[in-house]
Amino acid sequence: MSLDEEMTENIEYKGELKLHRCWCSIPFAIPVELYNEYQRSDTMYIYCPLGHHMRPVREESLKDQLEKMTDQKEHYRHECIKNNIKEK
Ligand SMILES: [Zn+2]
Repeated sequence: MSLDEEMTENIEYKGELKLHRCWCSIPFAIPVELYNEYQRSDTMYIYCPLGHHMRPVREESLKDQLEKMTDQKEHYRHECIKNNIKEK
């Protein structure tokens, strides 16, 4: 069987699936039980077929923003220290 034939095969699935859309616009389906667990979790990631990982939106908006700002602040501090040392 060629790769093309394998990719167009239908599968039968009896569970309930939740359709999710990655920020890259790829839609994909995951089992509802797994999706609910993902929504409750603070540490769980799901991955789109292209490999982008996601956290529940409520977590991303605050926690990730804070982490990003902390990283930027730290980077800025290091740049300042580096430049001051060079100037002397
Ligand atoms: Zn993606």
